[in-house]
Amino acid sequence: MSAATLPPAPDTTLRQLTVADRCDRCDAQAWLKTIDRAGLDLLWCAHHGRVHLPAFPDQGLEVVVDEREYLRAAPNPSEDAD
Ligand SMILES: [Zn+2]
Repeated sequence: MSAATLPPAPDTTLRQLTVADRCDRCDAQAWLKTIDRAGLDLLWCAHHGRVHLPAFPDQGLEVVVDEREYLRAAPNPSEDAD
């Protein structure tokens, strides 16, 4: 009767980023995608995304994909591994 207490896991089939998308800083799995003023995209792992997120506006970066909500559903959430 207590099995329904956990919230449902996010539907990972809706993800835009895959395990093949890697952080441009450290090559870990990417969970964020930004575009700069020139339209070039950058991929960020959860660690580097979290560290650099406050500076994105000053750097002219706009977050267009943020899939960190799926981290808890990932089979091996090693997002802080550098
Ligand atoms: Zn990274």
